Amino acid sequence: MASRRISSRKQLPAASLRLAAIVESSDDAIISEDLNGIIMTWNKGAERIFGYTAAEVVGKPVSILAAPERRDDMFAILDKIRQGQHVEHYETLRRRKDGEIIHVSLSVSPVRDRSGRIIGASKIARDITDRKRIESELKRSNDELRRANQDVETFAYSASHDLQEPLRTIALSAQLLERRHREQLQGDARKLLETIVEGANRMQNLIGDILAYATAAKYTQGPPTSVDSNRVLAAALDNLKGQIQESDATITSGPLPFVLIHENRLVQVFQNLVGNALKYRGTESPLVHISAEESDSWAEFSVVDNGIGIDQKFAAQIFQLFKRLHTRTEYPGSGMGLSICQRIIEQYGGRIWLEKSVAGQGSTFCFTLPLGVG
Ligand code: ADP
Repeated sequence: MASRRISSRKQLPAASLRLAAIVESSDDAIISEDLNGIIMTWNKGAERIFGYTAAEVVGKPVSILAAPERRDDMFAILDKIRQGQHVEHYETLRRRKDGEIIHVSLSVSPVRDRSGRIIGASKIARDITDRKRIESELKRSNDELRRANQDVETFAYSASHDLQEPLRTIALSAQLLERRHREQLQGDARKLLETIVEGANRMQNLIGDILAYATAAKYTQGPPTSVDSNRVLAAALDNLKGQIQESDATITSGPLPFVLIHENRLVQVFQNLVGNALKYRGTESPLVHISAEESDSWAEFSVVDNGIGIDQKFAAQIFQLFKRLHTRTEYPGSGMGLSICQRIIEQYGGRIWLEKSVAGQGSTFCFTLPLGVG
């Protein structure tokens, strides 16, 4: 015991020197002050951050560093120190010698004498002005982006919504014309009328998709609820029953969990993914299997098909708006289905991706959603 005390006392000067060197070389300001807020020590970091040399400030009140709008917090910090409390990573403003106001993060601890009495405070101040500037620039550009996004959404919504009505009139009139006057129309005119009907139908689908995309990132009916995805899948398959019959598809599914989402959004997702599995079928009748696994608070769904597959190099591109790998004559479509799915899934905090696909050997699409209760 005695020898340990002697050896630790022997090491003291070296340890103190090392400590002093660390304090001096720190990038942070390391300052000590007494309980009246009089500066006792001041390292090189403090010189760099606040612009005063030690000779200029030791013995002066720390309030010379106060930013006019934050004068009070110095007294509040000293009060805490007097009560033996610590202050950690407190972000505030201080004024440099040249008058510039800087952002600092302060950690302050009480300093005690040998008897344990609090005699002052040691303070570490980190200059976080750059971080604050970057944060506020980031926030500003985020706000701008959000506003621009909202503008685009509002525009896309009202444009597609308002276009629906005249388009419906065109489609209906063309259909009526075809039905009532088909016999009177000669070769070329009949073909042109068919082109108008077809074009109007295609435009209606496209506008429907734009509308779906514009509204996909909106909660229109209050917060999401726990929905039974078995039931939702059944509803989506019901909407697809024409295509299922026509393609002679076999659709199977494992037990699916409850997830937190708006029901009609999940119908859209299943309908798009299963619809694609039917549309991009190979030479065999389509086989589609939907399953899900649960981990932590997430459900991971897979939609596996035996269709034409996708070259893996397009795995990211297919989620881009209007991106298609085929011409309209090969397969109809707007190139918006997967973008709509992605926008919906991400709205609920999930992710969607092409898991595995080999051209000619089918595809697996996966997506995650927060688990619900049920
Ligand atoms: P669309 O089907 O209207 O073209 P999507 O956004 O739904 O738009 O799909 C984008 C592209 O991804 C499609 O054009 C197609 O090339 C490819 N794709 C999507 N799903 C499948 C699938 N199950 N099998 C093969 N290719 C697919």
